[in-house]
Amino acid sequence: MNARTSDAARTRARMVDRLRTQGIRDEKVLSAMAQVPRHQFVEEGLAYSAYDDTALPIGFQQTISQPFVVARMIELLRAGRELGRTLEIGAGCGYQAAVLSKIAVEVYAVERIRPLLDRARENLRPLRLPNVRLKHADGSVGLPEAAPFDTIIVAAAAIGVPQALKDQLAPGGRLMIPVGAADQRLLLIERQGNVFKESWCEAVRFVPLLTGTE
Ligand code: SAH
Repeated sequence: MNARTSDAARTRARMVDRLRTQGIRDEKVLSAMAQVPRHQFVEEGLAYSAYDDTALPIGFQQTISQPFVVARMIELLRAGRELGRTLEIGAGCGYQAAVLSKIAVEVYAVERIRPLLDRARENLRPLRLPNVRLKHADGSVGLPEAAPFDTIIVAAAAIGVPQALKDQLAPGGRLMIPVGAADQRLLLIERQGNVFKESWCEAVRFVPLLTGTE
């Protein structure tokens, strides 16, 4: 390990300690976050803040999500079960896809902005994660060709829950999506047969879920 890598490992261990004090209890989630080098997903000039509990710019007016929110969403989705086949909507720089890859069987991550998807691909390549597939697509319609999913996690805020996402949940599957405009809250939806049970979770702040690709 060179000095920079070991510094990063130390700062990352502190981030994980902080996540514990913030109430994250799921050891699988904490271990995944301890493994993924978050500093490699932000621009070099921001690497010193990579392990702070804040969202950071990744270009194209988008942000890498706050570590606590990444951990919390995955912890709530897991709640004592496996994530299984997982769809992430809004791959951004690829960080959350890397965290999910340590926990889920298979991860499909879609991003609507082509140059961001290319960046995610570059960021993920050195980590050699064979169970992650990236796709340039509008995730507001889900990913029909790979459905159904046991888990769907949306990293951008929607005004309403897209019906396609509910339709693409496997039986017993769960969807986590931030809902709202100025005031947003996480919504967890669990499919039981054709009944969709909804639970509202904490307040959050995400970039908007848009349609189409660019
Ligand atoms: N998951 C990322 C956070 C990305 S921010 C991380 O680990 O840090 C949210 C991302 O959602 C942005 O990159 C944005 O371009 C993307 N996005 C917004 N609407 C989308 C849509 N309909 N389909 C796919 N991606 C979308």
